[in-house]
Amino acid sequence: MLRANDPSIKSWVEVSADSDFPIQNLPFGIAKSGNKQPGVVSAIGDFVIDLRILGEHGFFEDLDFDTNVFERPYLNDFIALGKKITNGVRDRLSLILDTDYDDWDASELRDYFLYPMAEVEMLLPVQIGDYTDFYSSREHATNVGTMFRDPENALLPNWSHLPVGYHGRASSIVVSGTPIRRPKGQTKPNENEPPVFGPCKLLDFELEMAFIVGKETALGDSIGTKDAEDHIFGMVVFNDWSARDIQKWEYIPLGPFLGKNFGSTISPWVVTLEALEPFKIPGYKQEPAILPYLEYKGNKNYDINLEVAIKPEGEDQTIVCKSNFKYMYWNMVQQLAHHTVNGCNFRVGDMCASGTISGPDSSAFGSMLELSWKGTKPLTLNNGATRKFIQDGDTVIMKANAEKNGVRIGFGTASGKIIPAS
Ligand code: MN
Repeated sequence: MLRANDPSIKSWVEVSADSDFPIQNLPFGIAKSGNKQPGVVSAIGDFVIDLRILGEHGFFEDLDFDTNVFERPYLNDFIALGKKITNGVRDRLSLILDTDYDDWDASELRDYFLYPMAEVEMLLPVQIGDYTDFYSSREHATNVGTMFRDPENALLPNWSHLPVGYHGRASSIVVSGTPIRRPKGQTKPNENEPPVFGPCKLLDFELEMAFIVGKETALGDSIGTKDAEDHIFGMVVFNDWSARDIQKWEYIPLGPFLGKNFGSTISPWVVTLEALEPFKIPGYKQEPAILPYLEYKGNKNYDINLEVAIKPEGEDQTIVCKSNFKYMYWNMVQQLAHHTVNGCNFRVGDMCASGTISGPDSSAFGSMLELSWKGTKPLTLNNGATRKFIQDGDTVIMKANAEKNGVRIGFGTASGKIIPAS
């Protein structure tokens, strides 16, 4: 077990029981505090940890890396140092913040390197070069296939043999808190009439998680399932905003385009794959048999609770979905092995999202499309209002956390408010 994962460790920083950031988490992000330049931070309880200050005071000296990486506006250069260093930093933070550790008394410096989280601005954590979205929840793919094609043959023949995905757009991925403008585009509301232009009428969220690649590969190289975890730095919560009416008209034959690339929202904290190690569980039995390059050993699914809330302007939020990352038929290791099996190269900071994560129960459906069953079953919010899709002024708030042995590892929130079309 990694030191930082030890559930018995307590910190001298007060951490409430419902915090996303106990000493066992120590995620990484980019924050801007006051008039300082953005830099690399971690989190504990209600505080952000400024790694620059700790670096300047020599706390990482023996780890033998250039602490200037903490001055950068993205995590990419830090991540590129490799897991030996990044895990070393996480372990070191766990020592520095540990109540029982006597070699340093970092608590004397606390006012210099701990900032109240409420007083800093969290920025996009990584510069995302390329972004791919998968379609790996069997329940989601089945629901969509049932609604739009044939309930008898909801899954297309390829779905059970490979992790289906498409190349998305990295430039429009934004950090939690960034407003999302309702997209405009072509739709075809009436089957027998020509298409029309205007604001999207069927705006939706997709509850997803995404992993961030931490290791570069060369063009022509493949990553086997055995090595894939070495290439995954960590994870975020991901909202793949979707304009269903635009998507429906445009997607044949090449797949999602303008119905997807107007914005995606991620949580600001990257939780390391190592912090999630205790939450690994077995995945689905995969039948029909998969090809050897997709076979894997050990537990590669994760038990991570997910939830989505809708908060209308000026009102309280209503939780509309409770799902779990364990409902992934194709796991991240298989996704990465499949993505590189043809020699496609990856760069540090590339992002792969899971696809909408729906569970078997209708309360675990990860999109309004499924929750309202194409708009035929409107949801009733706590204030009595109903929703088939997302309205202007609505904020969609996604959260994720994993809990075991009294340790609760959270991701913070991925939240975005819809503002009217221009
Ligand atoms: Mn998606």
